[in-house]
Amino acid sequence: MQIRVRVPLANSLLAALPRKESKRLVDSMEQVVLTYGDVLYEPGEQIRHVYFLNDSIVSLLTLVDRHQALEVGLVGREGMVGIPLALENHVSPVRALVQGTGTAMRMKAASFLKEFRQSLALQRELHRYAYALMAQITQTAACNRFHVIEARLARWLLMTHDRIQTNPFQLTQEFLSHMLGVRRVGVSKAARTLQRMKLISYSRGNIAILDRKSLEAACCSCYEIVRGMHDTVRAV
Ligand SMILES: [Zn+2]
Repeated sequence: MQIRVRVPLANSLLAALPRKESKRLVDSMEQVVLTYGDVLYEPGEQIRHVYFLNDSIVSLLTLVDRHQALEVGLVGREGMVGIPLALENHVSPVRALVQGTGTAMRMKAASFLKEFRQSLALQRELHRYAYALMAQITQTAACNRFHVIEARLARWLLMTHDRIQTNPFQLTQEFLSHMLGVRRVGVSKAARTLQRMKLISYSRGNIAILDRKSLEAACCSCYEIVRGMHDTVRAV
C-alpha cells in the first residue's frame, strides 16, 4: 500500500544534487511508504514511476522460466529504482520487489524524463549510480555461481543492514530462499551455521546481527568489491 507521509530527505542521489535542483525535484515528487512484499515493476512492464529510496529497500529479481526468481541487485538509500529510464529505456527488465518497508520519493516517469534531460547534475549522479549498480549485478551473477550459501547469506545480510540501518530486522525463510536462489532447507542450514558462530541470531523471521566485524570476515569478497565500487563512483 502506498500512502503520503512526511519524512526527512535521506536519499544520497538527491542529497548530492545542488540545493536548488534537489528542491525543484522534490517539489515534483510525492513521499510514499513502500511495504514489504509490494511489487513496483514486473519484467517487460512499462515504467510509470521512479523511486528514490529513503529507508526502504528494493530487490531486483530476474525471472527464469517465468516462475523462478533470483535476486540480482539490491537498492536502498544510495540509489533509485527505475534506472532504465535514465538510459532512455521505458521498460523494466526485472521485477522490483520491496524487501524492507520504509519511505521513498516517487516521481512520474514523464516528469522524471523532463528533469533528467535538462539537469546535468542529475545525469551525472544517475550515470554514476547506473555504473555502480551494473557492477553490483555482474558481481552478484558470479557470486551466485561460485560462492557457498553461508558466505552469500552473510553478504546479503550485510548489504541489507547497510541500507536499512536497523537491527534486528524481519526476513522470512521463504523470502531469503527466493533472494539466494536456494531451497528453504539450504537457508536454514546456512543461518544455523552463522548462528553457531555467534554472528547472528535468527528466530521466527527476526534476524539480528550480533558481531558485524566477524560477519564481514565470514562473508565472500564480493561484499567489499561492490561496496568499494559505490564509494569509488561517489568520490570521482
Ligand atoms: Zn560472493
